[in-house]
Formats: sequence, C-alpha cells, structure tokens
Amino acid sequence: MAKVTIDSRRCKGCELCVEACPHGVIVMSTALNDRGVHFAQPARLEECTGCGLCAVMCPDVIIEVEK
Ligand code: SF4
Ligand code: SF4
Repeated sequence: MAKVTIDSRRCKGCELCVEACPHGVIVMSTALNDRGVHFAQPARLEECTGCGLCAVMCPDVIIEVEK
C-alpha cells in the first residue's frame, strides 16, 4: 500500500487521475472545493500499488505518491 496525497483545494475536477488509475483507487468527492468543483480523493488506498500513474496524469501536478 502506498500513500497518495491530493491537494483537494487546487483540484479542477478533470477526472484524468480517476481514469488513469488501473485499480480504481481515486474517486471524485460529493462535496465541492473552494473552486466549486468536485475534487479527486484517494478512497481505496489498500488497492494502490504506488505506480504513480495518477501523479503523472494530473495536469496541475497536485498528486503526490509515496511508496
Ligand atoms: S499510484 Fe497508481 S495505483 Fe495508486 S492511486 Fe495512483 S494510479 Fe492508482
Ligand atoms: S487529475 Fe489533478 S486536477 Fe484532475 S481531477 Fe485529478 S487531482 Fe484533480
């Protein structure tokens, strides 16, 4: 299991990280952030392999993966 941190305040809700994750770890929130969008959040971290695909895909570089 790896640690995935997402800066939810800066997330623009594009969902690219959700699509990138092969294990369905990241989901969109039901709540809105200060930008008024549903933000990405790690939900099933026990499934995370630490591959880093989500971090690579995020256009705003707000995802950090620690193995
Ligand atoms: S590091 Fe890989 S497995 Fe973990 S949340 Fe990101 S894309 Fe999914
Ligand atoms: S790729 Fe980045 S900006 Fe897009 S939803 Fe995921 S965390 Fe937010």
